[in-house]
Amino acid sequence: MMLIPCPHCGPRAQAEFTFDRPVEAITRPDGTAPELIRNLFTRDNPKGPSRELWRHTYGCRSWITLTRDTVTHAISDVTAVGASQ
Ligand SMILES: [Zn+2]
Repeated sequence: MMLIPCPHCGPRAQAEFTFDRPVEAITRPDGTAPELIRNLFTRDNPKGPSRELWRHTYGCRSWITLTRDTVTHAISDVTAVGASQ
């Protein structure tokens, strides 16, 4: 089981969180319909660190960003969305 350190609640089980998407997929590129469809439904799945958007759905309901290694699931750099860096 993966523990995710919520900046508000502390470490909690992954089951309390909902994965949304990689941070780089948040911005919508301008482009043709096929390009927009590719951005929405087709994503790379690289090995290594991935900056991701998650929500503590069954906890404080806050949105957070974190860096997760897609091979080891090690988590670092957890921040609350909207918090000053
Ligand atoms: Zn929380």
